[in-house]
Amino acid sequence: INQLIIRERDRSTLISEACRLLVANRGYRAAMIILINEEGGPESWAMQGIASDSSELAEMLEQGTLPSCCGHVPAEEGVLLVENRKTVCKSCPIADMCADSQSLCAELAHEGKSFGYLAAAAEKHLDVDSDEKNLFRETAEDFAYAVNVMNIENARKKFESEHEKLQSQLLQAQKMESVGRLAGGVAHDFNNMLSVITGYAELAVNEIPQENPLHSDLQEILNAARRSADITRQLLAFARQQAISPEVLDLNETVENMMKMLRRLIGEDIDLSWNPSPGLWCVRMDPSQLDQILANLCVNARDAIKDVGRITMETSNITFDEEYCSDHPGFKPGEYVLLAVSDNGRGMDRETSDKIFEPFFTTKEVGKGTGLGLAMIYGIVKQNNGFINVYSEVGRGTTFRIYLPRHEGDLQHSKVPAAKDVPRAGGETVLLVEDEPAILKLAGTILKRLGYKVLQTSSPIEAVSLAKEHTGEIDLLITDVVMPDMNGRDLAERLLTGYPEMKILYMSGYTSNAIAHHGVLDEGVNFLQKPFSSRDLGIRVRRALDS
Ligand code: ADP
Ligand code: MG
Repeated sequence: INQLIIRERDRSTLISEACRLLVANRGYRAAMIILINEEGGPESWAMQGIASDSSELAEMLEQGTLPSCCGHVPAEEGVLLVENRKTVCKSCPIADMCADSQSLCAELAHEGKSFGYLAAAAEKHLDVDSDEKNLFRETAEDFAYAVNVMNIENARKKFESEHEKLQSQLLQAQKMESVGRLAGGVAHDFNNMLSVITGYAELAVNEIPQENPLHSDLQEILNAARRSADITRQLLAFARQQAISPEVLDLNETVENMMKMLRRLIGEDIDLSWNPSPGLWCVRMDPSQLDQILANLCVNARDAIKDVGRITMETSNITFDEEYCSDHPGFKPGEYVLLAVSDNGRGMDRETSDKIFEPFFTTKEVGKGTGLGLAMIYGIVKQNNGFINVYSEVGRGTTFRIYLPRHEGDLQHSKVPAAKDVPRAGGETVLLVEDEPAILKLAGTILKRLGYKVLQTSSPIEAVSLAKEHTGEIDLLITDVVMPDMNGRDLAERLLTGYPEMKILYMSGYTSNAIAHHGVLDEGVNFLQKPFSSRDLGIRVRRALDS
């Protein structure tokens, strides 16, 4: 038994082996070890010899009750030789089986702590004297010592693995955060340049007749610039710096409206099934973000399917309680709407799925994948206080689950109809403030061509004096949000005192806290995302003026 105690590192093997040895080598008719939990109830046990197959005893232990002899062990002595069977064994299901043996029970005690009980049935003829009782108690204490060592060891292991898990989660979060900041910064500066490229190419293309070969050259420049703008848009989404205008949405309805587009995207060889769950709660998010999420998930699913296959989209309501969240790091308790997209494609291994949300991670050939799709989805989901989770098995398929927080409230249909043609000026005056000279010049040119009277400056301080000197009305202020001397919002506030009727249109490559909280625009703010086309600018200006 001492060897067993030193060698064995598994609790259940320890106690079952110990019982076997006690019966085989010490001549007990039965041996039983019960380990107890924090509350003092039976947690695990082992038995050998008579009564070891008693289903009544097992059932009693399952239900959390200890055999009655355990409760009669005198505390100071630590061991009991049952003499008064009538009282001690009264409610015990194996009382009859022990009746013609001498029953011993000792506490597994170590340093004042109890780990459970050791019980045994000795032959009637054996002389159970005080030496025998002491030996029995010492054996129980040795077990207690071994169990204590194992508990400490297990706690240490658990702590270490949890620590490791947390550490790697933290590292991952930090990495995503810094990559996000880098990506967002690059995208922001790049956006300004793209605005200029797109803007001038658009202006030029409109001046040149179609049959001129320069026309199609310029058209190519425009196409490339638009594709680049797509990339910066995705980077900004990943960095959570994309300006959004959330609306209350019924996901079932929004997804339904996208089905035609998604079917076209995935082609004819792949089945797309759609299982909306009835009575779905509302969410509040920017519908264009939902487009981005679904389009990207479906394209990825399509790419993972070799020839024919199936993509399934479903929705449902789901509530996470504290308990669920403590088992699932990163999840917060609350009510959520689940949007799941599954495919039966090739799936991915652990190494891949650990990296998929990182920007530029792709397993696709050069030119096929950018590695930005899931990074963008990750950013969008975070920006909307949701979670995303992926489950995948190699060769079987993948499921992405997106949980978006429930929005308490009703649907409100307040969509502005999209303008077809770029609306022109009706004699209005616009004050344009933008610290990037190339964009200032471009926007000024576009606005003048649309027929607006334009006052323009690259400095907010100068804008204040321009406004003071100006004698007529100023109908609209178009201003960058982040500028060196004064931010766009402060500028607007100062100008509003002189021109209380003036409308405001902010433009920016990303949102700043001046007009948004965590990228979510304040209610009623007119906003133009850079890079913009001349068409975007024309439409937004008209909309702001008419708002
Ligand atoms: P991209 O599609 O440009 O490669 P994504 O960020 O959209 O970039 O995806 C990153 C990688 O994640 C993919 O290259 C692919 O390896 C993996 N992946 C994404 N979705 C799936 C899926 N449904 N099944 C298998 N692998 C996937
Ligand atoms: Mg993709």
